[in-house]
Order: sequence, then C-alpha cells, then structure tokens
Amino acid sequence: MRRLLIAGNWKMHKTPSEARVWFRELKRLLPPLASEVALLPAFPILPYAREAFQDTQVAYGAQDVSAHREGAYTGEVSARMLADLGCRYTIVGHSERRKHHQETDALVREKLLRLLEEGITPILCVGEPLEVRERGEAVPYTLGQLAAALEGVDLQDPRQLVVAYEPVWAIGTGKNAAPLDAEEMHQAIRSALSKRYGEGFAARVRILYGGSVNPGNFASLLSMPNVDGGLVGGASLELESFLALVKLAG
Ligand code: PEP
Repeated sequence: MRRLLIAGNWKMHKTPSEARVWFRELKRLLPPLASEVALLPAFPILPYAREAFQDTQVAYGAQDVSAHREGAYTGEVSARMLADLGCRYTIVGHSERRKHHQETDALVREKLLRLLEEGITPILCVGEPLEVRERGEAVPYTLGQLAAALEGVDLQDPRQLVVAYEPVWAIGTGKNAAPLDAEEMHQAIRSALSKRYGEGFAARVRILYGGSVNPGNFASLLSMPNVDGGLVGGASLELESFLALVKLAG
C-alpha cells in the first residue's frame, strides 16, 4: 500500500561538476524499480538534478527552504524557486539545522507550510537526542516535534507529507536504531497522524527511518511493518552503497 522511498541526503558534499558525473552513472546503472528514489543535494546542484532526472523515475529536492515567500532575505532560497526547478521533495527540520542553525519547531512549521503552498512534499525530520532516549522519553519528545510542526496544518492527501524518524544519536555515528525501537517509534508516529488526519490518511503516509543506514542494516530495518524506506546520509554518497540500498528496497 505504501511505496518505499529511498532518499539520499547529500548534505554539504559534492560539487555540481562531481554531481553531474555521479547522476550520469546512476542513470546508467539504476534498474527499473518498484520503490521510489530521491536525491537531495545542495542548492547549486539542483539544476543538474533537473537536467539528469526530469521525466525519469528519480525524484530530487532540497535539504532546506526559507520560511519566507519572497523578499529581502539575503542567502535564502524560496519554495517557489525550488518548485520552478522541479523539486518533488524537500527536507525540513533536519537535526543538523535544528542544532547548528537554532531552528525551532515554529520555524520548521513555517518552512513546511511554504513547501505545501508550492506543491512540494516536505520530508519532516523528527527524532530525539541520546539523553532523551536514556531518560525513556524518546516517544513523547519525538511526537512533540511532530505535533508542533503540524499544528494547524491542513493536509488532504497522504502524498503531501513524508515523515523521517531520525534519532539524533544515530546520525552519522555508525550506530543505527534497533529495528524494533524504530518500529515502536514509527507506530507511535503513525498513530499520532491517525488522530490528526484520520486512519486512511495515516495508513498511507510514508515514515522513513534515518540514522546510519547502510547496506548491512537496511534489510532488517525495512522488514519492520511501519518502516517505509530510508533517509540516508553517508551511504548515499557512493554509487555502490546507494545502489545496494535501492536494490534492497526493490
Ligand atoms: C541524515 O543526515 O539524514 C542521515 C541519516 O545521515 P547518516 O545516514 O549519515 O547517518
């Protein structure tokens, strides 16, 4: 019922020239897929993503967006610009933005609204830091982030939203969440979405797991009934590991 999504978050890696070569290779090697593949490179790479992937099975998008629609906001990139470049997805609320750029839940919500206005699907990242998990409060903490980002947000179609559960302690550390812990959180997220938007909606929204996904641990994470794919950082940078993940998703 839910099509798996493998999304590569490239963070601040690869130049546009390097990406162009990589995209060409991916196109050459990618088999026909039942799952969906998306690449989320840095802003300057997006025109090359469009050049490579327009009218293909590969989607692309950005890692962040401005909370403003337009105007004197030096350095910002608007949702309208991303829509013009053909972005299908864009990350909001990544823990690196929350940590290094002091992004609050309220700001994440504004960014999510700007994307929805332009018909771009937000990949909303939520997840707890280590000390919160150690206190046994991971579920309420993460559901609090979800509720704050979706406060008053009207959604009609489950394709309008992707949620990524990314425990902060698992990102870039080589320590992934145990599949059953991920499943517990994904179930809690789905049930919160069901209360907010109805059961039919929640049953169709994709909830990705992110945090040190690699070809060795992805199959066991994917075997969980509520894990609908991965948001992948490090392992999305090399063609070989990215293709291995995509093939595991099928
Ligand atoms: C991420 O940045 O979203 C991420 C999950 O990174 P990594 O896969 O490297 O842990």
